[in-house]
Amino acid sequence: MLRRDAEHVQVGTWPPVVLPDTPAVRAVLQAVDGVRDTRRVTRVAAQRSGLDEETLRATLADLHRAGAVVDATGWPASAPVDEVHAAVLRGDDPTGVARRRGFAVQVHAPGSASGLGRLVTLGAELGGLSVADPNQEPELLVVASVGEPARDSIDSASQSGMRVLPVVLAEGRAVVGPWVHRGHTPCLRCADAGETRWGGRPALLPADRGFDRPHGVGVSVLQAAAALVVGDALAAADGKRPVTVGSRWVLGARPGAAAHRDVAFAPECSCHLFAPVS
Ligand SMILES: [Zn+2]
Repeated sequence: MLRRDAEHVQVGTWPPVVLPDTPAVRAVLQAVDGVRDTRRVTRVAAQRSGLDEETLRATLADLHRAGAVVDATGWPASAPVDEVHAAVLRGDDPTGVARRRGFAVQVHAPGSASGLGRLVTLGAELGGLSVADPNQEPELLVVASVGEPARDSIDSASQSGMRVLPVVLAEGRAVVGPWVHRGHTPCLRCADAGETRWGGRPALLPADRGFDRPHGVGVSVLQAAAALVVGDALAAADGKRPVTVGSRWVLGARPGAAAHRDVAFAPECSCHLFAPVS
């Protein structure tokens, strides 16, 4: 809380909530300590200021509406606290964060891409997702490969209904996507068909050997790729649309300036036939 001018105080900075500097506002803000519930805030403010509780209750309601204070009653205690706060600041329902535990992520990565696996696993855990053990079927399978992955392995994983997110590491770059949810989103074969049709180039060929060769992807690109993967896993867990749906993201020397290519359903690919009938 800052003093803004002679008549106003402000709460927060980005963006600030500007409030009139009245005895009631001051009494309520001083009684808010992050622990007391609204009833106790009002009572403590009344005891300290001598103002009546009804006025202070109305002031607290005003501050709540303005976004200067939040009521944390009912926030999930088991969810990561920073994620809960982040949801509140975004204007999302914070109780949704507790449901992330039911969304399990698993990473398949060869030895030379294990760094990506560690970063994604760490991010998923910090975000409140579950990390599936090898015997479990996850909601999201992240398939990291050095060079293009075998399309058959992506197909067979997605056929069982889980979402699959391929991450290709090669030649200093990471390519993330497309998010494959069979029948719902364009798949990697759709992406291949698009490359052939629009790029005038041959489709990318999956590596049939040297799967675990060096990829030259440094930690800054690896972290950016992991951030994209974790962000999409959280989006899916929260019922939002992952950014890699219908899109392949290429992260190169300047990971902050990622380029992406759209991927549409290809008529020659049968994946769209598996769309659920509604
Ligand atoms: Zn397809």
